Amino acid sequence: MCRWSPRARQGEGSNIVSRIYISPPHMGGEELKLVEEVFASNWVAPVGPQVDAFEKEFSEIVEVPHAAALSSGTAALHLALLLLGVKRGDDVLVSTLTFAATANAIVYVGARPVFIDSEPRSWNLDPDLLQKELGRRAMAGRLPSAVICVDLYGQCADYELIQPICRDFDVPLIEDAAEALGATYQGRPAGGFGVFGVFSFNGNKILTTSGGGMLVSSDPKLIERARFLATQAREPAPHYEHSVIGYNYRLSNVLAAIGRGQLRVLKDRVRARQRNFSRYQKLLGNLPGFCFIPELENGQSTRWLTCVTIDPAEFGATREEVRLALEAQDIEARPVWKPMHLQPVFKDCQVVGGKVAEELFRNGLCLPSGSSLKEDQIERISTIVRGQCKRLGSRDERGLAPNSMAAPQEVEP
Ligand SMILES: *Cc1c(COP(=O)(O)O)cnc(C)c1O
Repeated sequence: MCRWSPRARQGEGSNIVSRIYISPPHMGGEELKLVEEVFASNWVAPVGPQVDAFEKEFSEIVEVPHAAALSSGTAALHLALLLLGVKRGDDVLVSTLTFAATANAIVYVGARPVFIDSEPRSWNLDPDLLQKELGRRAMAGRLPSAVICVDLYGQCADYELIQPICRDFDVPLIEDAAEALGATYQGRPAGGFGVFGVFSFNGNKILTTSGGGMLVSSDPKLIERARFLATQAREPAPHYEHSVIGYNYRLSNVLAAIGRGQLRVLKDRVRARQRNFSRYQKLLGNLPGFCFIPELENGQSTRWLTCVTIDPAEFGATREEVRLALEAQDIEARPVWKPMHLQPVFKDCQVVGGKVAEELFRNGLCLPSGSSLKEDQIERISTIVRGQCKRLGSRDERGLAPNSMAAPQEVEP
């Protein structure tokens, strides 16, 4: 989605109100020191000790034993599919509600995405639809070569159901956890529920290296092979020897240093995002037709982005009206992902269901959610959102019961 402007202006003077971005980068303080180490050692290269240390520290945090640091989350998805042997003409089942990168990687290997709808309980891949589609395809002798399940907006999909389904049909599962670093499901960290887990350190993610990604797996051979393919598939030889097509997908040693600094504050970043969510919930939770993204009982979301749905009939304004009201005050909010099956580029692809994701796109909004967001900014944003709710100000004509409009925040300064 959003390629955020890297410099969130800081309002220095008392009356400068700076633009509020949806999810700007947030440095922890130690990154520069680590980058200086890189310069001091002259390891300004696509490999090096920072990359090794970043991989090791990262794999400990996500509790998956092997990790390869890469130039992007998209590169990690691409390599995951290559390593599973997904090839031209194959089908890959994938969540329709996601960022295009997830589906693009399928096309990179010549395979066809088959889009699966969301479930309303988590907005993630619907396990029932997955099971039905795999059953149908098993009968027809057309099982897909892989399933890519996305952990949307900081929340793991329902793997208790999804894992056994994939296992029963013997279809490998890739977990796209690009948005969910720091989340847990049944007490286990995001990224460990598939053969591969994929992470992104793009500028908008909970932790950033300005750009970067990580591929994790419990199979050391797969990760070793990923590193090989990511460094141009150079065979061990004094000259340049190649027997397969390689890629230039390694994370630079400079950026890995930033990543290590960011990892040290990951827990704080998760807590800050969760705090944003509860503040919004406190300020806006009682508005009619205004719902927050649900959380599965057995998982804990990082609340990477605070997402809501707005029912225009009940709320009295559309999602787009709310977004534009925020934009008019220099506040960035975004519609929920446009489902892949509605994207012109994927118009010829098969879709299983689709109505849930379509409605989330129609009514869904992502509010500013950065870990550096201040409490007074959340109050300002909430006041603007609340001001759009036409069912609050029109008590007389609507004749609503007073308690249904209880809005203590309305009178707050
Ligand atoms: C950000 C993102 C990616 C891509 O990561 P990049 O590092 O930007 O290539 C893939 N999948 C999802 C769900 C994402 O949000």
